[in-house]
Order: sequence, then structure tokens, then C-alpha cells
Amino acid sequence: MERTLCIIKPDAVKKNVHGSIIQKTLDAGFHIAGLRLIQLSESQAKKFYEVHKERPFYNDLVSFMISGPVVVIALMKENAVAGWRKLIGATDPAEAEEGTIRKLFANSKQENAVHGSDSVENGKIEIGFFFTESELV
Ligand code: ADP
Ligand code: MG
Repeated sequence: MERTLCIIKPDAVKKNVHGSIIQKTLDAGFHIAGLRLIQLSESQAKKFYEVHKERPFYNDLVSFMISGPVVVIALMKENAVAGWRKLIGATDPAEAEEGTIRKLFANSKQENAVHGSDSVENGKIEIGFFFTESELV
């Protein structure tokens, strides 16, 4: 089975829909290998989104990601990376397909409820950002 990183972002935790998102994830056949509720520090958020540091939305994104607690989840499934991206939908909820997590729960292109790794390689790196191997089942 493949792993991918999910982050339930501060907008979704504030709206109290993190439980609904986790249920939808489980209903879609994903298994949870690790899960924690955490408050990201500014330096953690900056490092996590470092690939976007030249983008105009980077500073706002970092502020948003530290605006409240997030749920970090290591998900497991066959083809987890592609399957999770499909279940969450497009970055901008206005462009996301009906029934996707972002269509259902996102506020905007920035406050878009969830993160998903974009490749198997990045999934490994991103899971390693939050979990040690001994914290995963
Ligand atoms: P995704 O999360 O779908 O992989 P990106 O990696 O392109 O999307 O962007 C990372 C995150 O940055 C997005 O999930 C979203 O929260 C934010 N973001 C991306 N593009 C924009 C934008 N044009 N304006 C505001 N926020 C954005
Ligand atoms: Mg991305």
C-alpha cells in the first residue's frame, strides 16, 4: 500500500468539519497510518510550503496555515497519492468536481480545507515532516 499526507487545514478545523472529512476519507477506503492535531509554527509552515516561496500567495498561505490547529494524517491505500488528490478535488473549490472534499468544505482557493501530496516521492517527504516511522502503523 502507498502512503500520502493529508492536512486538514485551519479553516476546516474551525468550521468543525474535520470529523466529517475524516469519515469521508475512511468511507473512500483510506486507512489511517498516523494522525495528530497540532498547531504549526511559522517556521514549520514556511518550510512545509517552501516550494511556493516565490509565489505571491506564499506569505498569506503561511499566515493562514498557522491561524489555528490542523490535523495531520498519514493515509494509506493502493495508489493513495492519486486517489487522495481525486477525492479532494481541484485547488480552487470553484473548479472542484461535485462530491469532492474541497467542493463540499472549502471556503476559497487559499482556505481549501485539505492538503494532499502531489507525488509518491513528496508523500514520503511530507509524511516524514510530521511522523517518525515508529509513529506509523
Ligand atoms: P494544492 O494544495 O492543490 O497542491 P498548490 O500546491 O498549488 O495546490 O498550492 C498550495 C496551497 O496554496 C493551496 O492548497 C492553497 O491553499 C494555496 N494557494 C494556491 N494557489 C493559490 C492562489 N492563487 N491564491 C491563494 N492561495 C493559493
Ligand atoms: Mg501542492
